[in-house]
Amino acid sequence: MTVPIAIDVAPERGQLPETLVFGATYTDHMFSQRYRQEAGWHDARIGPLQPLALHPAAAVLHYSQEIFEGLKAYRRADGGINLFRPDQNVARFNRSARRMVMPEVDAALHLAALKQFVDLERHWVPAAPGASLYLRPTMIATAPRLDLSAATEFLHFIIASPVGGYFGAGFQSVDVLVSDQCRRAVVGGVGEAKTGGNYAASLYASDAAARQGYQQVLWLDAREGRFIEEVGSMNICFVYADGSIRTPALTGSILPGITRDSLMQLAPRLGHSLEEAQLDIDEVLAGIDAGEITEVFGCGTSAVISPIGRLAFRGSEHVIGGGQPGPVARRLYETLSGIQYGSVEDPFGWVV
Ligand code: PMP
Repeated sequence: MTVPIAIDVAPERGQLPETLVFGATYTDHMFSQRYRQEAGWHDARIGPLQPLALHPAAAVLHYSQEIFEGLKAYRRADGGINLFRPDQNVARFNRSARRMVMPEVDAALHLAALKQFVDLERHWVPAAPGASLYLRPTMIATAPRLDLSAATEFLHFIIASPVGGYFGAGFQSVDVLVSDQCRRAVVGGVGEAKTGGNYAASLYASDAAARQGYQQVLWLDAREGRFIEEVGSMNICFVYADGSIRTPALTGSILPGITRDSLMQLAPRLGHSLEEAQLDIDEVLAGIDAGEITEVFGCGTSAVISPIGRLAFRGSEHVIGGGQPGPVARRLYETLSGIQYGSVEDPFGWVV
């Protein structure tokens, strides 16, 4: 299917910097299209990256009617460029849209826009190990409406930022504080949607954790403060001494990660069952202390796998596997990132 996306090439093209800091550099162009209730989606274009002009009463600025996605373009050794399961990001974008009473986008057009955009920006896809071009599809409510009602005008855009490898100094563990006070999301709320307010709401706890020397926050369920949900903005997995892996079941307040879903399909091929479970924080910490849980790691697009070396809860610290990344995390990391970069065969048809 050919989709009409107007392309207006920027007069001056920037250059990929030698050192990449996450979120510091943006490419020359952006994709955008607009929505009005009477007209539907229209004006799909790729043009120079530029600031947005918004009415100060735009609903996004007051009531946070906003959704976004995060995915990456990976440079293969042969110079080609891979996207990883972009259809899943589009599907989640549209699920988030429904929850936030925003119009869904045409999946084929969104995918075509991603591909054309990355193709135009291909010199921004870094070749350094672990580096990639981070893509950020976003939708905001632009209608100037201070009455609290679902907006009728929207802007959908995609921007891109080249990012370095997550593990600049090698595959490393992070220390994590289990939040005893703050909750990320509630069942019935918007935790399973990728909407900005969830992230603004998480800043207070992550800031407090950072001041105590922890790099991430582990989130517990909001009702009982007892069941493990996520870590930072990643899903979380626990490796048991028999090689089996467990991850919290999707309860409605957890974001269904594409990395999580990929690991659920990949881990059994590497000899590890990966089951969804209800994981009680006290039982997990006892399991760590008893050596029954040998590895813990976060998983998400940013890091693929982020091993956790220490979990702190109510004043006591629990060290996992000597505080160092374990072999299961390393193998899953190497295999999944190998599939993404095209150095490991993709038996699932995930790579585009
Ligand atoms: N949980 C949250 C809250 C997230 O923001 C993300 C990143 N999108 C994830 C989990 C991991 O999702 P994915 O594997 O699709 O990146």
